Amino acid sequence: MTTATPPHDAPASPSGAHDAARAVSAARTAQAAWDGLGFAGRRKVLKAWCALILQRSDELVDLIRAETGKTADDARLEVVLAAHHLRWNAVHAARALGRRRVSPGLLMFNHAVEVIHRPLGVVGVIGPWNYPAFIPVGPVSAALAGGNTVVLKPSELTPRTGEWLAATLAEVTGRLRVLHVVTGDGTAGEALCRAGVDKIAFTGSSATARRVLAACADRMTPAVIEGGGKDAMIVAADADLDAAADAAVWAAMTNAGQTCVGLERVYAVDTVADRFLDLVTERAAALRVGDGPDADFGRITLPRQLEVIADQVRDAVARGARAVLGGPQSVTPPYVAPIVLADVPEDAAAVTEETFGPVLVVNRVSSVAEAVERANAGGYGLGASVFTRDRGSGRGVAAGLRAGMVSVNAVIAFAGMPAVPFGGVGDSGFGRVHGPDGLREFTRTQAITSQRFRPPLQPASFRRRPGTMPALVRLVRTLYGR
Ligand code: NAD
Repeated sequence: MTTATPPHDAPASPSGAHDAARAVSAARTAQAAWDGLGFAGRRKVLKAWCALILQRSDELVDLIRAETGKTADDARLEVVLAAHHLRWNAVHAARALGRRRVSPGLLMFNHAVEVIHRPLGVVGVIGPWNYPAFIPVGPVSAALAGGNTVVLKPSELTPRTGEWLAATLAEVTGRLRVLHVVTGDGTAGEALCRAGVDKIAFTGSSATARRVLAACADRMTPAVIEGGGKDAMIVAADADLDAAADAAVWAAMTNAGQTCVGLERVYAVDTVADRFLDLVTERAAALRVGDGPDADFGRITLPRQLEVIADQVRDAVARGARAVLGGPQSVTPPYVAPIVLADVPEDAAAVTEETFGPVLVVNRVSSVAEAVERANAGGYGLGASVFTRDRGSGRGVAAGLRAGMVSVNAVIAFAGMPAVPFGGVGDSGFGRVHGPDGLREFTRTQAITSQRFRPPLQPASFRRRPGTMPALVRLVRTLYGR
């Protein structure tokens, strides 16, 4: 492990709460012209933005690393994912949001119906620091593709990544500024929630999500909430243990465990639990931590999280958990070396609370049914995974999990699939980003019915004939009454 001081570039000057209203007003001024470009015009711009991000990805990787301390590979992966999702939103918005015809139904056969998705106006996006490019680009590009303009409030730890995204888009759009940035801490975020935006897309901790919703309540501003998680993996007796262990260690430790859909708990069936634990420990022990070119993961970005991690590990061990690899001593600021805990009491914070560090809890269970019960306990419900050689039964297990996304025989697979809706249940939030659902989050659905001709029966009139209602009832009985 290296102990070099992490890079701390001077933060961009916080523009503070008072700028939120100005940014929303500027975004609103640009919105009609942006909407006026139509799906084809916006697709062209967003594809050009995607290309520019990729052309200058080294710059973005350096910026992300400087602000978060993640490794070059972790930053590169983030940029790849951001581009993948941005491109998908650009290309698929027309199909997901375009005009579609809907059947009027038998009783209203004389109407033609179409459903359209109109932009909401100005969307406020509040982002976290752990994936400062990938996470905001999802809702930002979905909102833009649908014809909205956006005000982004990046995390106070990663303001320059947010500003870089807006600056590169401005290079493509020129005078039409469709993505504005306000920087600052939670005060700026709260101001954005109250600044008259038409929707908030929030990604961050579940505790902050509650404050965001309270701020949104004043104006009944709708919100999509991407909160925290405590993702579990289930390892069945017939699982490929080598693959499961490899996936578990990566999902738990990549980005130093600072991933909302990172793996924090494993429930392994008794018969394979010891072997699985051995494989996990062996792999995790081989990981290198630091800021050098050979490091597998970097520092803990948020200094106060170091204490949370240490407290959870200390508490688990004090309550009888086995520290199979590392322990409280693995927390050496600003780094945390891999920690594997086994047999942790189910009510310990290391099992119930988000750890957000390279810590993996492996608990044994008597059956997959018990694993599902334990995985479903607790407030969070973001992602999950199942390892079994029987893919059919894996999908059955997945359907019983209280989680927004489940991968069978893989981990976090859904995050690399831009067509797949992403979001949680319970404390992990509500609403979806990514995929057609994510595009529709930032539109209002409008139904337009147009009467093609007057029908023989006209029940919706005070001038209807005496025989109209009995005839209608007879018709409905004939159709549905048996
Ligand atoms: P955080 O909740 O501390 O902050 C998130 C954002 O909210 C920041 O921009 C912050 O300035 C802002 N904020 C703080 N107080 C606010 C307020 N009162 N009103 C409005 N905005 C406010 O989260 P974080 O530490 O930046 O990120 C880590 C958390 O994010 C973890 O819990 C992680 O699981 C979660 N996360 C979730 C997802 C997901 O997709 N579900 C993705 C990434 C991260």
